[in-house]
Amino acid sequence: MGSYNTLYDVIVAGGGTSGVSAAICAARAGARVLLVERFGTVGGQFNVSGPPGFTYARLFNANGQQDTGGIVEETYEKLYKSGHALPHKKPPFRIKAGYTFSYVDPDWWTFLIFDMLEEEKIDLLLDSLIVDALMEGDTIEGVVIENANGRVEVRGKIVIDCTGEAYLSSKAGVPTEYCTREEVGPHSMAFTVDGVDWDRLLTYINRHPDQLQYAHLLNPYTDNTKEAIQEAYSKCMDITELGEIMGFFELRDEAYSNGDWHEFAGAGFFLTPKEGGHIQAHFQHSSQVPGCLATDAWDITKAIVECRKQNQIAWRFFKNYVPGFENAYITKQSTEPRLREGPRIVGDYILTEQDILNAARFNDVIGMSCFEADSQHVASMNTLNALKNGKKCVKDASSHDIPYRCLVPKKIENLLVGGKAVSAERNAYLRYLQQTMVTGQAAGVAAALCARDGKTPRELEADTSELQKLLINQGVILHLDANKK
Ligand SMILES: Cc1cc2nc3c(=O)[nH]c(=O)nc-3n(C[C@H](O)[C@H](O)[C@H](O)COP(=O)(O)OP(=O)(O)OC[C@H]3O[C@@H](n4cnc5c(N)ncnc54)[C@H](O)[C@@H]3O)c2cc1C
Repeated sequence: MGSYNTLYDVIVAGGGTSGVSAAICAARAGARVLLVERFGTVGGQFNVSGPPGFTYARLFNANGQQDTGGIVEETYEKLYKSGHALPHKKPPFRIKAGYTFSYVDPDWWTFLIFDMLEEEKIDLLLDSLIVDALMEGDTIEGVVIENANGRVEVRGKIVIDCTGEAYLSSKAGVPTEYCTREEVGPHSMAFTVDGVDWDRLLTYINRHPDQLQYAHLLNPYTDNTKEAIQEAYSKCMDITELGEIMGFFELRDEAYSNGDWHEFAGAGFFLTPKEGGHIQAHFQHSSQVPGCLATDAWDITKAIVECRKQNQIAWRFFKNYVPGFENAYITKQSTEPRLREGPRIVGDYILTEQDILNAARFNDVIGMSCFEADSQHVASMNTLNALKNGKKCVKDASSHDIPYRCLVPKKIENLLVGGKAVSAERNAYLRYLQQTMVTGQAAGVAAALCARDGKTPRELEADTSELQKLLINQGVILHLDANKK
């Protein structure tokens, strides 16, 4: 049981995907760890406001090389072995897009993570809101928490901000970047549905392959053509190979002209695996509210209220227009909004859009990703097709490195950042689930090393070789040639 009087090696603020990865991997690197989370569960956008539609996805680049391992692959393998994940879904048309799925059941993921936190003897403090940073000049020394015990202070040698929206970093005085209210990506609310007649839906898709979106699957570095993708859709016998099922263009347009659709999002859903091969439909793009900053509670409230209205419209559309949904029913409305875009810290390196497009390599690599740049949403009926500057792809269909310096905030010492707020240009935002676990894992191991050696995270930049060695030992992929095709 944790104690407020302990001086922890590492305090992790926020128990989303990045936070649990940071905590588990710091403990495995020898640190005494406290993990503080404001909700009564861990997982954040993964399972409180999610799951993300593609849970996990994009672990393989468009050359078919796996670029994400570590705790992502470990949890996937454990869930697959226990019957709570589907085999990696990588039919040729998805590999060529660098957009594969490796679905896991989010509820069993949560059970697994609780077990792993206990196995690593992490002090877990739930229902505890971090309200401030304990500062000594420009050095963070701990956090201030409000919970059932009142207002308490906890100290740690290294603190990792995994709050998603850079909440703790902002409190500590780290410079952050954010866009304007006019520009900010729209936020969504998700809901999950059971009782879909998948055979009936698949028959519709086989007969109308042109009615689904495919632009996000094109890739100039591979020969994934519109014709090849539509042929795959027309012959598909397994709904889980399709993954994101977005479009229904004619049905949606008919519904819109009848007043049965709204203008803020495209129609579609993703898939969630449940026990015994059961599949649920998960709707995360059917509501979108623009003009709301994740740093303003009034804005977030507006987004939640509007999204719930849009979700009802979306649900009526699927029940009344889309074959297979006649007897389906909602099983879960997420309690929290899915905040698509929040502040990013300014770190010792800012990952750029060009780094991603050029498949850049860095000496201080701590993980890799093949997710393309600039995949921003807009609140329109063509959610995914409306990528701001059209489809962009990583050079040679490869993957880019993520440098350690993106986790080290400018100005403040003894602080690291993991998850979606790490240092990146807006068009290089590392917010995708697997990316948040990659940066969380690296922040955790780096923090453990700094606590052990009495170094600051910035001092560790001078030589990241031990960090890299430990990450590789934990299964992290730092070089494409080091893994299976
Ligand atoms: C609409 C939408 C769709 C998405 N779809 C996909 C997808 O299909 N595939 C994909 O890979 N990714 C997707 N993502 C991205 C991905 O789900 C998230 O970016 C990712 O889960 C964020 O992880 P994180 O750990 O950085 O932050 P979070 O999951 O937000 O975790 C932060 C945690 O910190 C806690 N916290 C915050 N402040 C405090 C505080 N003051 N005190 C204590 N605790 C605090 C929160 O409660 C939370 O648990 C989507 C995101 C959105 C918004």
